[in-house]
Amino acid sequence: MAAVTYHIQAFDPDAHYFSVCCRITAPDPDGQQLYLPDWIPGSYLIRDFSRHIVDLRAETAAGDAVALEKQGKSSWRAAAVSGELLLHYRVYAWDTSVRTAYLDRQRGFFNGTSLCLRVAGQESSPHEIELLPPPSTVNGEWRVATTMPRSSDNNDDWGFGRFVAQDYDELVDHPFELGAFEVVEFTAASTAHAVVLSGVYELDKARLAADLTAICAAHVARFPEPKPPFNRYLFLTNVVGDGYGGLEHRSSTALLCSRSDLPQPGMREPSAAYRNFLGLCSHEYFHSWHVKRIKPAAFTPFNYQQEAYTTLLWAFEGITSYLDDYTVLQTGHISVAHYLEQLGKTITRVQRGAGRLVQSLADSSFDAWHKFYKQDENSSNAIVSYYAKGALVALLLDLSLRLHTDGRCNLDHVMCELWQRYGQTGVGVPERGVEAVVAEVSGLDLDDFFQRYLHGTDELAFAELFSAFGLKLNWRSRQNQEDVGGTASQPGKPQWQAEFGASWSETPAGLQIKNVQVDGAAKMAGIAAGDCIVAINGLRATATLLNQYLLSSTAEQRLQLHAFRRDELQLLSLQLLPAEQNTAWLSLDDAADAAAQARREAWLGSDQSDPALSWGAKN
Ligand code: ZN
Repeated sequence: MAAVTYHIQAFDPDAHYFSVCCRITAPDPDGQQLYLPDWIPGSYLIRDFSRHIVDLRAETAAGDAVALEKQGKSSWRAAAVSGELLLHYRVYAWDTSVRTAYLDRQRGFFNGTSLCLRVAGQESSPHEIELLPPPSTVNGEWRVATTMPRSSDNNDDWGFGRFVAQDYDELVDHPFELGAFEVVEFTAASTAHAVVLSGVYELDKARLAADLTAICAAHVARFPEPKPPFNRYLFLTNVVGDGYGGLEHRSSTALLCSRSDLPQPGMREPSAAYRNFLGLCSHEYFHSWHVKRIKPAAFTPFNYQQEAYTTLLWAFEGITSYLDDYTVLQTGHISVAHYLEQLGKTITRVQRGAGRLVQSLADSSFDAWHKFYKQDENSSNAIVSYYAKGALVALLLDLSLRLHTDGRCNLDHVMCELWQRYGQTGVGVPERGVEAVVAEVSGLDLDDFFQRYLHGTDELAFAELFSAFGLKLNWRSRQNQEDVGGTASQPGKPQWQAEFGASWSETPAGLQIKNVQVDGAAKMAGIAAGDCIVAINGLRATATLLNQYLLSSTAEQRLQLHAFRRDELQLLSLQLLPAEQNTAWLSLDDAADAAAQARREAWLGSDQSDPALSWGAKN
């Protein structure tokens, strides 16, 4: 019998409440300490899930009330009892994100971090969930999708009943999806996989199954074992009109996507949205090795009640962000042209933020909790993304290893060693552990590399490495505010001649300023985030008008601006600055020698004959 059992029911779908009874077989004889996590692993923000708990009370097995003292926002102490202790409570569940819980007549979803109190002293003992069928008001025949192992009396892969976890960490690492969902099953690396889809959508199921089979198999093939480190994997996918997100777990992932992200029936070439969705699936799947099993020492064990600081998120999110699309490329589901376009966009994104010169990648990781996860109008000036820059450093690392070991070693060798040393043993990765493994596996001295690009804020040096792989990194200025780079400028369309130094959105009232670049033209004119520009040179301010000035003006030209800060009108004079060459795109280097071409082929594969690529190279 499990030490802790949670009886959970989708109790009141219309009020969005789960009901929970937590039964503790042998509570602490001195009084039982209880907690609800304040964050969920994989999403580094204190979220205070306990704010959704209502009606918490304690009683004995005989139904006598037990005193319960509240000790903080997410901790309680129940008085000593002889025999079992029961905690009854409800949890409000109305969040479509992958991080908490959701319940209505259509579907239910929960993470254990939202529903399951942590029983102090019993975290390492077996925990059980008994999931009760929902009330009759729900729509359709509800089933249960989770990878939490079912108890021996629960043999239906999709049924309600009892589920068993070996400890609290495992309990909260298997999300549950409830509802009349659709299942697309496939086998990859001799292991059962399925996509579980909730929502309203159209879908080419065969295509999705075939594409994910290849991507999952490619990830398994990175590691020495023929099978993945789980018996069954689920992609729990909530399909909505407009949404995007994913959270990794040890043998499943919770995904949120837009219905246009799915492969539509009759689709021949993958759409950009579907390529992104495959990248998201690839990303979360790879996490089941890299961050769920290979994980920072700072996460072993997890401290669920406060921030768990580590400088290593660049490795866990950056390497994963590099290998997600790279794996989709390797399986042939995106072309080399599209892959290089994606890289160009990431380089552009990092290059456009002055924060890259202020915050190191290691600091970005450490400060994720109060900076990356709490972004504001100044973030692009103050921080750098450990996803985007982390992916670029992983790319540079992969290319450096390939180049300086004559192709003997690449990032996959690093991953295998991390897996064997940390993933298989359960030992946490020390703060400089990834750097040490890279050096050992390659035999290279990369201290300078890590000092500059990981611990320092040096500009990433792409040109020389790309050249050694037969690629050219090209820079240009923007064509409009929506231009995110990755491609040559569109033929016949001009580029900005001048820089405004702020981003804006067009509203009926005028141009609302979103971010102001440090040391940009807007900042020097005294414009601030939140200002609303109502006129430019005496004319109503529109996005089209401002873009016209940036396309045609010489730098140093002045614009007279009327702008509201709150309700106060200001007249400002803005001197434009020369357009920045901060928009990157990659092309094949026609002048590359045979060695560089061979390296490129070993890295990107042989399919480099895209029409889009030669178009890019010519422009
Ligand atoms: Zn991730």
